[in-house]
Amino acid sequence: MPEIISMGEALVEIMREKIGAGLDKPEVFIGPYPSGAPAIFADCAARLGGKVGFVGTIGNDDFGKVIQDRLRFDGVDLTYFQSKPEATTGVAFVAYFSDGSRKFLYHIRNAASGVIDKSRIVSSYFKGARFLHINGSAVSINQDWKETIYLAIETAKKNGVKISFDPNIRPEILGVDKVRALCQPIIENASIVFPSGEEATMLTGKKDPEEAVFALLEKGTDVVVLKKGSLGSTVYSRGTKYDVPAFEVEEIDPTGAGDCFDAGFLVSLIQKRSLKESARYANAVGALAVTRKGPMEGAPFPEEVDKLITLSKK
Ligand code: ADP
Repeated sequence: MPEIISMGEALVEIMREKIGAGLDKPEVFIGPYPSGAPAIFADCAARLGGKVGFVGTIGNDDFGKVIQDRLRFDGVDLTYFQSKPEATTGVAFVAYFSDGSRKFLYHIRNAASGVIDKSRIVSSYFKGARFLHINGSAVSINQDWKETIYLAIETAKKNGVKISFDPNIRPEILGVDKVRALCQPIIENASIVFPSGEEATMLTGKKDPEEAVFALLEKGTDVVVLKKGSLGSTVYSRGTKYDVPAFEVEEIDPTGAGDCFDAGFLVSLIQKRSLKESARYANAVGALAVTRKGPMEGAPFPEEVDKLITLSKK
């Protein structure tokens, strides 16, 4: 049985080879790379030694195989993962620009990644788990996913499983108000929230990220971990705040860093490290994640994380 359950979209990423090439002209693409924030999280947590189950859907096609093979290879439990012969695996096309920005074109909602039903949430699967990890991207796929995630949260709570939540907000698709409404029931039940400063302000309506964090803590969240890209992270819980600096690395591809960070943090907590040590561990995982091209390719193994942490102490 898993210690951590992740659920949501699994898809492949097809990316522009050249930085600066947009999505509106014929140019060279590379891929398929296994992707989807909840799947990246699951894969990284498994690589780091966590017992992880992933609930999601692929099509019965080559792109689906790319995802399934990777998750299986890295040891993710796929008991409630499904392959649908009548659907095509979800795809995200991605362009990268020299200022660090990215442009995405998604085929998710009407693909296999949009297929889910409540029969995939089985109470016995949650028994003994420590965390149900929810990603804001998954709750905003469609109505079926929203209802299934809310049911999973109820099931988790009944089984004493804590909710961890990465807002991963994409307001460009649904608009801020709708996203905030979708996230509200999750935040109210979450023990840990992993926002960026911008997401924290969007979720709470506060202007300042720290004020936004305090508003999240007031709503009942035990721990808020603010992700700050190349500046590292700050962990807040009631009465404590730890600023934890980033590791210095060369950033090649930022996609997936946040999901790997979340995975590092939860695996580290399960391994009984403190909040501060877990933030440091997660910073190392996030840093390594940006050093390789491809959303899931940067998910590091424990030896790599330990090496980075040890080297930085010298
Ligand atoms: P997201 O992918 O959700 O936007 P971030 O970009 O904040 O999240 O990255 C998550 C974490 O990964 C950061 O908090 C940091 O620990 C690490 N990280 C990200 N980018 C870098 C970088 N360029 N150098 C070092 N660490 C990084």
